[in-house]
Amino acid sequence: MKRILANDGIDKLGKLLLEEAGFFLETTNAAEGHLVETINAGNFDVLLVRSATKVTSSVMDACPNLKLIGRAGVGLDNIDVKYADVKGIKVINTPAASSQSVAELVFAHLFSGVRFLQNSNHAMRLHGESKFNDLKKAYSGGIELQGKTIGIIGFGRIGQAVGKIGIGLGMNVIASDPFIKEATLLIHILPTKQDIPVKISTIPLEDILTQSDFITIHVPGKINGKAVIGGKELDMMKQGTGIVNASRGGVIDEDALLHALDTKHLAFAGLDVFENEPTPATALLHHSSISLSPHIGASTLEAQERIGKEMAEGIISFFENK
Ligand code: NAD
Repeated sequence: MKRILANDGIDKLGKLLLEEAGFFLETTNAAEGHLVETINAGNFDVLLVRSATKVTSSVMDACPNLKLIGRAGVGLDNIDVKYADVKGIKVINTPAASSQSVAELVFAHLFSGVRFLQNSNHAMRLHGESKFNDLKKAYSGGIELQGKTIGIIGFGRIGQAVGKIGIGLGMNVIASDPFIKEATLLIHILPTKQDIPVKISTIPLEDILTQSDFITIHVPGKINGKAVIGGKELDMMKQGTGIVNASRGGVIDEDALLHALDTKHLAFAGLDVFENEPTPATALLHHSSISLSPHIGASTLEAQERIGKEMAEGIISFFENK
């Protein structure tokens, strides 16, 4: 019987599928200093992690029975993938499972930004009984998303999921991606069970910056250690643009962003990710034009269930094909 240590937990559907397939699954969480000892004491063949557990070359060297490392989610930053390859340890992840969840969060931030919800929620709680009419005046004058242009920087899995929602909302969707020339988005119409194809050709970044009413970034991370959106790019945006970052902290230069918001060049920002997680810059947390969430893009019940299922299927197929 193959033995799996799910060190950062696993969704119950994934657990069920693995146990039904005859795997032994342990969900104890071993702290960093005890990981090697736990893997060896339990003679585990598979180590499953999310983003919390770091799987370094020394962990791999010290655990000779380890055959497979599963990373629930998109990134592989916490695993030394190159060294795993050298050691013949297979690494798998679940890159597509959370795209819809992240894309929906982008629109949560956009809807929040255009109707000032990040502030009105707070103000209503404090003054909703005593100053209702003042608040009504203060938070009127929002705008709709329909008919506006959304610029998507990075047109991979999440970028395309954003594009589909944008089309569904009646937005003009434009995208830039140096590695993708065009993509056909299949817009699923649930009541009639139809898939409507919409082809989108990508355009240069400069055109996204100058033409968009809203911009959302879905690149893998900083490019050569640099923010994709810095002061120069922010200056190129139209006055009143709203911007969302649910990709990686630092992909937008945070100081430049604060400046663009303070000078009202940008109307608002939505941030799910931060340069200094888990202690984001206070100036961002206190800014009234920023809608905030604590890196929860992938954290929906549906995404976690898909992640668990995909991970279980990946593990089962790895051992079937061995
Ligand atoms: P993906 O690999 O499918 O897409 C990324 C796209 O970016 C690719 O198409 C690539 O060609 C493109 N790209 C690379 N460099 C670029 C550049 N300089 N300009 C424009 N495009 C560029 O990845 P994905 O699954 O769509 O994930 C995108 C990002 O979302 C990743 O950074 C990932 O870590 C992040 N993410 C965040 C959360 C969250 O909780 N907020 C959850 C999942 C993923």
